[in-house]
Amino acid sequence: MLVTDKLLHLKEEIGKEVTLVAVSKTYPAELIQMAYHAGQRDFGENKVQELSEKAAVLPTDIRWHLIGHLQSNKVKYIASFVYLIHSVDSMKLLQEINKQAVKNNRIIRCLLQIHIAEEESKFGFSYAELNSIIEKKEFNTLTNVSIIGLMGMASNVGDESKIKHEFTGLKTFFDTIKKQFTSDFTILSMGMSGDYRRAISCGSNMVRIGSAIFGARN
Ligand SMILES: *Cc1c(COP(=O)(O)O)cnc(C)c1O
Repeated sequence: MLVTDKLLHLKEEIGKEVTLVAVSKTYPAELIQMAYHAGQRDFGENKVQELSEKAAVLPTDIRWHLIGHLQSNKVKYIASFVYLIHSVDSMKLLQEINKQAVKNNRIIRCLLQIHIAEEESKFGFSYAELNSIIEKKEFNTLTNVSIIGLMGMASNVGDESKIKHEFTGLKTFFDTIKKQFTSDFTILSMGMSGDYRRAISCGSNMVRIGSAIFGARN
């Protein structure tokens, strides 16, 4: 099936309540252009350099999502245009994003990434860390950051009940912590090609899907 057909089928399947972020990392700009022509506007990349290079040659109304681990010293390269940063995992990073947002005279939308998987390698706050971060006084000085929700990645295993447990746990936490943020706190980004159906059934309203649209990555 063509990229455009896969995209349209997927959009129909997930419905209007769930935002589809087409994860275009490693795929060439021409494929992104095809998806764009099929109406897709939200694209996700996991590396700052690749994101910047693609943004420079693709239509300016694309909403670019940074979904991979972000080092503080690279925030400046995307601060002027990034639409949403999904992978905020430290106070230091939040402060740097705020600083660069001030410089660019804009508000940068962020999601706080929560570590829900068992694997060591996945970044993110624990539930306890997140609770303590939002109590800190620095947290209230982030004038140019808008925290609009949470992101999580489930364990990369075939164990359905485990994945369901991780997604449900994040959804429950999201609902509990919501009242401590502004009314903009509405996004729960969870679900990828292999587990988006499960994620949506557990309450996700933003999915990040790459290979199921563009084909397997090398
Ligand atoms: C690569 C990536 C995805 C998409 O993965 P697919 O399995 O290709 O859908 C989603 N989220 C993050 C954070 C990623 O790095």
